[in-house]
Amino acid sequence: CGIVGYVGGQSALDVVVAGLKRLEYRGYDSAGVAVLADGGLATAKKAGKLVNLEKELKDRPLPSGSTALGHTRWATHGGPTDANAHPHLDNAGRVAVVHNGIIENFALLRAELITRGHDVVSETDSEVVGHLLAESFSSCGDLAEAMRQVCRRLEGAFTLVAVHADEPGVVVGARRNSPLVVGVGDGEYFLASDVTAFIDHTRAAIELGQDQVVELRRDGVTITDFAGDTADVRSYHVDWDA
Ligand code: GLU
Repeated sequence: CGIVGYVGGQSALDVVVAGLKRLEYRGYDSAGVAVLADGGLATAKKAGKLVNLEKELKDRPLPSGSTALGHTRWATHGGPTDANAHPHLDNAGRVAVVHNGIIENFALLRAELITRGHDVVSETDSEVVGHLLAESFSSCGDLAEAMRQVCRRLEGAFTLVAVHADEPGVVVGARRNSPLVVGVGDGEYFLASDVTAFIDHTRAAIELGQDQVVELRRDGVTITDFAGDTADVRSYHVDWDA
């Protein structure tokens, strides 16, 4: 339902949780976050309102880092449980992905992953993406390229945002039939399903086009299509009052 990603000099987790709060008006049934820190990936996710996630983060604080993502979920496949909340990880716990929309061919992809030895732990259509990203990353070593490879296999509607513990300082996003916007700051970048999530930080935005992948680093963004060709960038200024 709502997605936020961040890379930059602020506490990434604080920026992401504040962004998720800005998206609460859209409605949701669970929420979760992931942060890259100390060479690893740390996550927290909870069914129910954001206050449940915030309580979890107070009881079990995550390490602070400069790269994070978060999600508020409106369940379509699998009930609103902690396990079905996003982010979803690969079995090694190195990749985290959040997803808005529906992966129409998830059952086929899930069956293939199980055949290849993956342990699928949720009932969602989204989880397959985490496992597929991990497989692609292990052969290409580049999260944006892994995202392009995976997106070419997906059918349906999706906004995806992912991080990988082996590529700290990078957030990757992709979209098809579902919105994704980049917020351009000074040495920091935001990704969100809706500009409302980052309007407190910047009004400079780039709207991702259909079937595009974006890679955010603290020093810039790269946008391509699913084939890897450089894409047209549509920059604009958000001038309404939020
Ligand atoms: N289809 C996914 C799920 O049920 C994503 C739902 C959403 O857009 O929040 O987990």
